[in-house]
Amino acid sequence: MSDFSAEFSLNLRRAGVVGAGGAGFPAYIKARGKAEYAIVNAAECEPLLKKDQKILEYFPEKVFDGLELLMRAVGAKHGIVGIKKKHEKIIPRLESIAKSRGNISVLKMGDYYPAGDEQCLVYEATGRIVPPGGIPLDVGCVVSNVETLYNAAFPGRPVTETFVTVNGAVKKPATFKVPVGITWREAVDLCGGSTVKDAAYIDGGPMMGRVMTDFELPVVKASAGIIVLPRTHQLIVKKAQSRSVFTRIGRSACDQCSFCTEFCPRYLLGHDVQPHRVMRNMLFSSGPEHKLHGRYGLLCCECSLCSLYACPEGLNPREACVAAKADLREIKIGFKNSPLNTGRAPQVHPVREFRKVPVLKLIKRLGLEDYNKDAPWSDVSYKPARVKILMSQHIGAPSVPSVREGQRVEIGAVVGDLPADKPGCPVHASIPGTVGKVNEKYVEIIA
Ligand code: SF4
Ligand code: SF4
Repeated sequence: MSDFSAEFSLNLRRAGVVGAGGAGFPAYIKARGKAEYAIVNAAECEPLLKKDQKILEYFPEKVFDGLELLMRAVGAKHGIVGIKKKHEKIIPRLESIAKSRGNISVLKMGDYYPAGDEQCLVYEATGRIVPPGGIPLDVGCVVSNVETLYNAAFPGRPVTETFVTVNGAVKKPATFKVPVGITWREAVDLCGGSTVKDAAYIDGGPMMGRVMTDFELPVVKASAGIIVLPRTHQLIVKKAQSRSVFTRIGRSACDQCSFCTEFCPRYLLGHDVQPHRVMRNMLFSSGPEHKLHGRYGLLCCECSLCSLYACPEGLNPREACVAAKADLREIKIGFKNSPLNTGRAPQVHPVREFRKVPVLKLIKRLGLEDYNKDAPWSDVSYKPARVKILMSQHIGAPSVPSVREGQRVEIGAVVGDLPADKPGCPVHASIPGTVGKVNEKYVEIIA
């Protein structure tokens, strides 16, 4: 690792920069790799989320600054900004900045789901296929989210704010920057409140996000936004289906048509993901818990296309794959030690190009047509009365509180940390104030 890479990755860790597209992967780990291509994932394929577009519209220079730093750190010869061509309003500006920086190009993609799947994006940008069970670095690529690169452009500056979109059943959908640790209720109030009495929300996009009902939960660094919906909305009901329900229905109703597999983006890339075979496995699962040991879900990226779009019976093959992965993990089986790990190079399916799912069609299928609105940029400067800083806002080990109750902290102060040899990032105070409650899960700060 060069001196620059070492310093850059150290700064990313100190600042607590994590993947801001939902996953929360610590950015410093990626910055330590070596890659030929650094790719900005600006595809934002989750319907109704707008924050990446807004960051690129209002702060494009910063994203390019972050990209250039990352390129230098990993030794990338090429930078690529992958964005959907429908964003014609912002693309000319991006192309002009890219030209002025050199070695950076803008890849204009179609409006399909899941264009932002990391491995699909790598293929579209470079023609390379990430090997089954592998990561983009295996094929000389590093992929970063727009907001992650925005944060990386301020070396060593602690991440205390995050960009989020609040869309769906709210009075004025919007995209804004708020202090980490405010509640989702406060974020919804910034949009004029919900338009429905009995609301739930999806944390993240409608496809990959999780259904939540507690609006008092805090916004974290990896938050991309929420979609507020009536609790009775078909998407909330389907996504909240319990394991016993999707197993009971799946066992009796799956006719093995295999549409779920035929539309699976990872299957189409040549990976051995076959959700219909996991569904078939349900018929042979036994015991009260119906443990699923179907290995054909091991490489599932949990995009939900099979459950929320492809299956004509409205079944839940995605959840079957998630359950199967967990059940196999219990008996210590992962892709690497499964019979799927043949070492054969994947071959892209010949009709992949024609099975890309148009987002507008998907929105219709999800019952989200009435909520498919812009969430314009709003320059709010919200000063919360208190924030709750979670110790685990990233993949890896949780941080450990490093402050005590009653202590005064300034914005940016480290309130949770972990040893340098553990994968993870420190977390910081997002407002100045006095430390309230402290426990292993969070640190509260009162303004
Ligand atoms: S698409 Fe639905 S019915 Fe067809 S195989 Fe998959 S889960 Fe079964
Ligand atoms: S959720 Fe379904 S469509 Fe998506 S990767 Fe997994 S099996 Fe394939």
